[in-house]
Amino acid sequence: MILPMIIRRVIAPAWALWERSPYLRHYRRLQGTQYDPPEVIRRRQWEKIETLLDHAYRTIRFYRQRWREAGLEPGRIGSFDDFRAIPLLTKADLRGRRDDLLSDPYRQAPLHCKKTSGSTGVPLEVLVDEDAQQFKRACTLRSDEWSGWRLGESVAAVWGNPQLRTDWKGRLRNALLDRHYVFLDTLKMDDRAIGDFADALVRKPPSLLFGHAHSLHLLAAFLRAKRPNLAVRPRAVISTCMVLHDWERRAIEEVFQCPVTNRYGCEEVGLIACQCERSTGLHVNADGVYLEILRPDGTPCPPGEPGMIVVTDLVNRAMPIIRYPVGDMGVFGGRTCPCGRGLPLLQKVEGRVADYVVTPRGDLISGISLTENFCMKIPGIAQMQIIQEEVDRFVFRLVKGPDFGSESLDAVRRHTAERFGPTVRYECEYLDHIPPEPSGKYRFCISKVKNPFAQSEGL
Ligand SMILES: [Zn+2]
Repeated sequence: MILPMIIRRVIAPAWALWERSPYLRHYRRLQGTQYDPPEVIRRRQWEKIETLLDHAYRTIRFYRQRWREAGLEPGRIGSFDDFRAIPLLTKADLRGRRDDLLSDPYRQAPLHCKKTSGSTGVPLEVLVDEDAQQFKRACTLRSDEWSGWRLGESVAAVWGNPQLRTDWKGRLRNALLDRHYVFLDTLKMDDRAIGDFADALVRKPPSLLFGHAHSLHLLAAFLRAKRPNLAVRPRAVISTCMVLHDWERRAIEEVFQCPVTNRYGCEEVGLIACQCERSTGLHVNADGVYLEILRPDGTPCPPGEPGMIVVTDLVNRAMPIIRYPVGDMGVFGGRTCPCGRGLPLLQKVEGRVADYVVTPRGDLISGISLTENFCMKIPGIAQMQIIQEEVDRFVFRLVKGPDFGSESLDAVRRHTAERFGPTVRYECEYLDHIPPEPSGKYRFCISKVKNPFAQSEGL
């Protein structure tokens, strides 16, 4: 453990100095402020919002016009309640409007481009200024360390399209600072690739294993089934980018013998929330974002009620993201965490808005809970993807487990009628595995029927 300490104390600060990056300074401050009382954190958020609104109104024509049309002026927005009058910034607003949303003083500045393939398949781009990028880096470092991993320790990653810099500076940085030494590409996860990756993990155990929730689960399932004697023992596991199902968490924790830290974010704004070591929910990254959870009519959901996640980026000045529905559903916890941090708690992220199923009776069911339920209650199903083609027609894509049989099909029939009503039609398709999306992520439930949340997000 000498090298990580040298990295943390000597190399990382020297590197930051060389890069002229203030991220370690931000990080040290954020370490302290996370324990501020909730009202102090909220007040700080409000101050950031006031500055942000003023900046956006002065320097971005898009916001100026939009808010004038809504009869709003930043000077008159004096509270979080007033803030809710600001129209949502939809994905349609962002799409192809990079120039309109760029702040005038940042037009010539060097900017970081964040691209996302978007759940609807249409790519989006958000430009982030350098100061914001370094602040976000500090926020992510702070929450990643809640997993038990520390800056300077080695990382193994399961990731779609891993992009490692191959120039000398990139290689040096990876060797001395980032310490990502082995990758498993989620788009090429065959038995051989997983096996090689597992061997590398045993040869040189990483301090942190990091990846998409479902890919980590596939890795764990592979090890359990095919290499049960291989002891892969990272010190920490961070699961990110996707909803972590409870059954996936259980399997990952069992195989790697360490707790999973669940992290939630999106490409457009970066880190949104992350679990702490006490695991009662996900702490909102309140220094970087302001989070709202709303009903389809725009009113806030009380703690415990699922709604759409709307995020405001408190730091990016180049292309401010103000009241942006991420496309996911979440639930506020309404409790404080025993860890003592004052950062608000998100009880749960429930998956994509677009993945909610609307039943013929008008009920709204989260795709996550649906697949979880089907997989748990129906014997013989290894994996499943539910596609709602029409309000009363479904396609179930099934990966058979060893004990799949006629009993399983009876259970599917019973369960479908119970969950969706007796009038619903369905067909089963059988696959060897559920293919990932082009981004490397998996979707367990795809609904082609628009629900009220999707409509209010303009999806
Ligand atoms: Zn906590």
